[in-house]
Amino acid sequence: MFGLKKDWSLDVLPRYFSLEDYEGGVARWCPGCGDHAVLSAVQRICRDEQLAPEKTVCVSGIGCSSRFPHYMHTYGFHGLHGRALPVACGVKARRPDLTIWVATGDGDCCSIGAGHWIHAIRYNMNMVVMLFDNNVYGLTKKQTSPTTSAGTVTNTHPRGAWLPPLNPATATLGFTNVSFVAKTVDWNPVHLHATLLKAYKHRGLSFVHIHQRCPQYTADVYEEAQKDPSQVLLLTDDDGITLDPSVARMYPNKLEHDPADLNEALAIAGRKDKIPIGLLFQDETRPCYEDYMTQGLGMTAEEKIRGMNAALDRFAI
Ligand code: SF4
Repeated sequence: MFGLKKDWSLDVLPRYFSLEDYEGGVARWCPGCGDHAVLSAVQRICRDEQLAPEKTVCVSGIGCSSRFPHYMHTYGFHGLHGRALPVACGVKARRPDLTIWVATGDGDCCSIGAGHWIHAIRYNMNMVVMLFDNNVYGLTKKQTSPTTSAGTVTNTHPRGAWLPPLNPATATLGFTNVSFVAKTVDWNPVHLHATLLKAYKHRGLSFVHIHQRCPQYTADVYEEAQKDPSQVLLLTDDDGITLDPSVARMYPNKLEHDPADLNEALAIAGRKDKIPIGLLFQDETRPCYEDYMTQGLGMTAEEKIRGMNAALDRFAI
């Protein structure tokens, strides 16, 4: 790849990464699954931002969406159920120079991984967390997940789920030290891409709640919203998601929302009449745990031993 310098000489960049450089194995998600769109958006962002594949890590738990690292030609960790976030935090703690994408589902994050979810938000380490929310456990063939709507017939609730569904966005907004929460939909690739790009550029943990289609098991969940854009509420603001004119034209219902307003973000995220999409909340002044965790990372072993001995000597009697 070539660039033109100010003196008109050619600057030959050492490496240029194309989309193919981020493409891993052939994605084995069902045709029409929303996961394909998210994968494509992340690959485009990696290419546009020229993220070195060897400095990019995709971490996941267990579930359909958690196959994500297999399809990225970067480093990856397909972990244990619900454990994507502690693994991602561990990677970031030791290697703050790496870019981290976390793929987790509504079952993986909001059920078995819920404890880790709360504390990862509190640690606020610099990474993008993508919650693929298809309202069901897809990998295990249609079991009720924490976000399954009441009344939905599943294999675990053949007479219909009866607990009220958990709202991942309102929950996250309520966690201590939250710094970024956005919502988007997989079936609008332009808004999806813009939202993930904003999340990538945020300093701290960016939590992106993605309404994700599962044509196999919950085909009807987002069908109406796809056909009728008036069911979506588009959040607008100069500090929000950068909106392509095509996105602004598509959605007749818009709401100006200042992402600094946490209380208003909670009210919007809790709305049941429409699917709000856009940046709900952002505060880049919140402390990031890696600022503390990475202290001393550049020290030699001898320097560390000297430091530890000096600290222990304080207690000598
Ligand atoms: Fe996607 Fe659903 Fe198929 Fe899983 S079962 S790959 S979520 S469409």
